[in-house]
Amino acid sequence: MKKHNFSAGPSILPQEVLQKASEAVVNFNNDDLSILEISHRSKPFVAVMDKAKSLVLELLDLENKGYRVLFLQGGASTQFLMTAYNLLNKKAAYLNTGTWSDKAIKEAKLFGELVEVASSKDQNYTYIPKGIEIPTDVDYFHCTSNNTIFGTQIKEFPKFDGVTVCDMSSDIFSRQLDFSKFDLMYAGAQKNMGPAGTTLIVIKEAILGKVERAIPSMLNYKIHIDKDSMFNTPSVFSVYVSMLNLEWLKDLGGIPFIEKVNNKKAALIYNEIDRNPLFKGFAAKEDRSNMNATFTLTDESLKETFYTMCKEAGISGINGHRSVGGYRASMYNALPLYSVQALVDVMQELERKA
Ligand SMILES: *Cc1c(COP(=O)(O)O)cnc(C)c1O
Repeated sequence: MKKHNFSAGPSILPQEVLQKASEAVVNFNNDDLSILEISHRSKPFVAVMDKAKSLVLELLDLENKGYRVLFLQGGASTQFLMTAYNLLNKKAAYLNTGTWSDKAIKEAKLFGELVEVASSKDQNYTYIPKGIEIPTDVDYFHCTSNNTIFGTQIKEFPKFDGVTVCDMSSDIFSRQLDFSKFDLMYAGAQKNMGPAGTTLIVIKEAILGKVERAIPSMLNYKIHIDKDSMFNTPSVFSVYVSMLNLEWLKDLGGIPFIEKVNNKKAALIYNEIDRNPLFKGFAAKEDRSNMNATFTLTDESLKETFYTMCKEAGISGINGHRSVGGYRASMYNALPLYSVQALVDVMQELERKA
């Protein structure tokens, strides 16, 4: 049986997506060619790219609202600098809620003045700062919707009328939001959309063209938009598998459906963390992420026993990030409820044994 895969990223994909993807590696579209050996400009692949883009807009409810979809390379980390390169004239506002925001800030500082509107760094990023004031004279405001490493998630986004940029790498397509409130969203595929190798960018075209600096072609959103993500060779296989995964999500009932499942999974694990005296949650309760649940053992001497029990139950990938320690159960869209139940069962069994 397949393992219960709690990996933080690259992470679990639906079994049927993996099956279809593996078939396409051998024979794509019944053309007797592999998806890995055809031109990115061939008709069958252009159709994949178009389908992936339209699924993104449909699932996010952003059709006919001036948004464009890009599938680029370089990971979400390249977006840290690309957003600033394309949008930062003088000043930008950043909310610092974790390692990823911190890295985005570091890159953007190369391009202009940065205002850190709030930060939870002083408390090891265990919470999301509230009541934030964003200056009105900034080119844009940047935030990270879900803090993958520390396990916090923005539940209510700060009010801001200007251009809003959001790193949604670890929770895009997981919950209903008014996505039209964001002007630029980006996400590395490998958390909740597909395999590593491509990065999704959803951008309102109207925010571009406002900086004076010259932008190298590969880092220029406008060029990628004009070339339909085919300015250079896109990550063909990653885009294909992402498309399959988005189709899977659509067939299930889209974000409204998966959000309910994700809420159930999160309630299950957090209830157990709070109930079981052997475990303690890491993040502030009201800011807990529905995607990445972080927790520790209250009695470190049980570490080995817990490890062995998890292993025997087929539970994989729950070790916390090296900067936090403890455990992290990542519960992306493709992780079934029964996998969370399997982990909770082990936590309860540990309590009985201890
Ligand atoms: C994983 C992650 C990143 C980094 O993604 P790469 O594709 O590895 O560059 C950035 N932001 C968030 C929120 C992440 O979870």
